[in-house]
Amino acid sequence: MRPALKFYRLVLQCTAICFLAIFLLSANAPVHAQDAPKPATHGIAVANMDLSVKPGDDFFHYANGAWIKRTEIPADRPGVNVFTSLADLSDKRTAAIIEEAAKANAPAGSNARKIADLYNSYMDEPGIEAKGLAPLRPHLEAIAAIHDKHELARALGEGLRADVDALNNTNFHTPNLFGLWVAPGFDDPEHYAPYLLQGGLQLPDREYYLADNDHMRQIRTQYAAHISAMLKLVGFADTDARATRILDLEHAIAETHLSLAENDDIHKANNTWKQSDFAANAPGLDWPEYFRGAGLTGQASFIVWQPTAFTGESALVASTPLETWKDWLTFHLVEAYGGVLPKAVAEERYAFFGKTLSGTPQQRPRWQRGVLVVNGLLGDAVGQLYAERYFPKDAKTQVQAMVANLIAAFRKRIEALAWMDPATKAEAQAKLNALYVGIGYPETWENYFAYEVKPDDIFGNIWRASLFEYHRQVARLGAPVDRKEWCMTPQTVNAVNLPLQNALNFPAAILQPPFFDPQAPAAVNYGAIGAVIGHEISHTFDNEGSAFDSQGRVRNWWTPADLAHFEAATAKLAAQYDTYKPFPDISVNGKQTLAEDIADVAGISAAYDGYHAELGSKPAPTQDGFTGDQQFFIAFAQNYRSKEREAALRRRVLTDSHAPAQYRADTVRNIDAWYAAFDVKPGETLYLAPPDRVRIW
Ligand SMILES: [Zn+2]
Repeated sequence: MRPALKFYRLVLQCTAICFLAIFLLSANAPVHAQDAPKPATHGIAVANMDLSVKPGDDFFHYANGAWIKRTEIPADRPGVNVFTSLADLSDKRTAAIIEEAAKANAPAGSNARKIADLYNSYMDEPGIEAKGLAPLRPHLEAIAAIHDKHELARALGEGLRADVDALNNTNFHTPNLFGLWVAPGFDDPEHYAPYLLQGGLQLPDREYYLADNDHMRQIRTQYAAHISAMLKLVGFADTDARATRILDLEHAIAETHLSLAENDDIHKANNTWKQSDFAANAPGLDWPEYFRGAGLTGQASFIVWQPTAFTGESALVASTPLETWKDWLTFHLVEAYGGVLPKAVAEERYAFFGKTLSGTPQQRPRWQRGVLVVNGLLGDAVGQLYAERYFPKDAKTQVQAMVANLIAAFRKRIEALAWMDPATKAEAQAKLNALYVGIGYPETWENYFAYEVKPDDIFGNIWRASLFEYHRQVARLGAPVDRKEWCMTPQTVNAVNLPLQNALNFPAAILQPPFFDPQAPAAVNYGAIGAVIGHEISHTFDNEGSAFDSQGRVRNWWTPADLAHFEAATAKLAAQYDTYKPFPDISVNGKQTLAEDIADVAGISAAYDGYHAELGSKPAPTQDGFTGDQQFFIAFAQNYRSKEREAALRRRVLTDSHAPAQYRADTVRNIDAWYAAFDVKPGETLYLAPPDRVRIW
């Protein structure tokens, strides 16, 4: 199953730069402070609760109903939630850092200068208009000059980027033919290895091409019109016919792809191919030329995540006419850079990806998109300044103490498990001993020396950033692994488990209210950030973590009996989530979200133990009449305060490995203490008889 899931899928990646993600998600992300993240009081947000709802019927609305009623989704957003509010705050702070960098007139080559120049180049709309399509032209001409499949293979290889991430930031999407992820090797976690992943689609997932329902058929029709419009805008003729051929090609590619659920199976993904194996295993593409284009001729072997997709896509290179591939390359180029081309192109791009795909009527202000770009391309440069300014040392100390309590809670729970083999328990404890928990910010910062930023060339700045990142990743193939390396910037509102490093990252930006407030009662901090920390720790030894030992090596350290028990217990949880229906025509896919749902149950269970360990025999202070345990569960459910547009929610159900917010909050129904805290009785909607409550740890 999915070995490393983020607590909540957000947007940017610090090590893997995905332009598509940046621009796509700029249509899709934060900002708007409907509820300022600074609480008036330090504790649960009682004003957000709907006390007319019975907690046992609908805990999500009980904890968040008043907020949901009074909140309107801004026109430039697919939805709003705690993460977007905090991301807004983080964006504002980042914007201030960028503004100061711009004023500082820092020396050429310094990080501050790069931050300023990158941001200013993005903000320079008149300059972008004046240049028109000129920055695109040399690249269009290079595609036009491709004469045969040999040259096509080279161009496809030149398009390879380090823009996917199978286990850490979990991003399986690249519009390039394939994507590269550089990470500790499955069988040699001491050294960085190259992972190759399927790619080639613009739409978010294969389902968008293959699903046979009205909603998706309509999206495909609109997508074809969008392809045609984009090609017309950059000067092509006969664009409807070209769009049809491009869509047909992407449809054929989608048929070769594995689904998101299948991508999670790392045992299926652990396929080492020598460079010389590609021609035999996946005939069609001129592989030597592809690797020459990618600058990887010297790389002896690769880990191929989805062999069938490589076979299928390679065959399509041979069987599909050259002209169709050239149109595909052209369209993908225009799409990748559409956000920094003249307004007509950028608006057409947004009209499809923002409005149609995410249902967001209005684009976010340009400065916020500029912040996203800077965070995406110079994330550590900004992050270093962010951490210095916004993450006090005593906050770090307090969170470290919570982490220690959570780890102790897991130790006890593992020790007490009746079903787990003693040898398995020993390895689980060894994993806890070796776990690196990063709090706030990384130990070392990325060096941007080799990344050239020009003040008036946003197109080139993005182009060079993707190459800089690609070369940086390729350069460390075979080098020793730094287990303390982070994969998120401090200004990212998120948390992550890195299974190949046996490490966790909790960036500074998530360690603030409502997740963490140094002045809030322990009940609230444990219910909120404690459950998040517990969630990430649990990935270390759940069905995902069971595939990686304490050194990050791929080695199943569970016995068959452990696995059988675990699968039986988790099948019950998957069935529980299968019953959730956000709309009458779609249900949550309990298998797709299983790993995250397990982590949610485990996280809140361990956080509850950690809270009581910290409380000891002291009485818990009440707040507005709520007991300590009630505050704990309400704080947990308030993590998931969320309101989302229908299109965005539908997209999430199809593509996200996490269940929608409401069902994540309602998972309290699996915890005995919740029944006692709110006097939940049989007959209430969320009530589960004790044997039906899922206990995994
Ligand atoms: Zn997770």
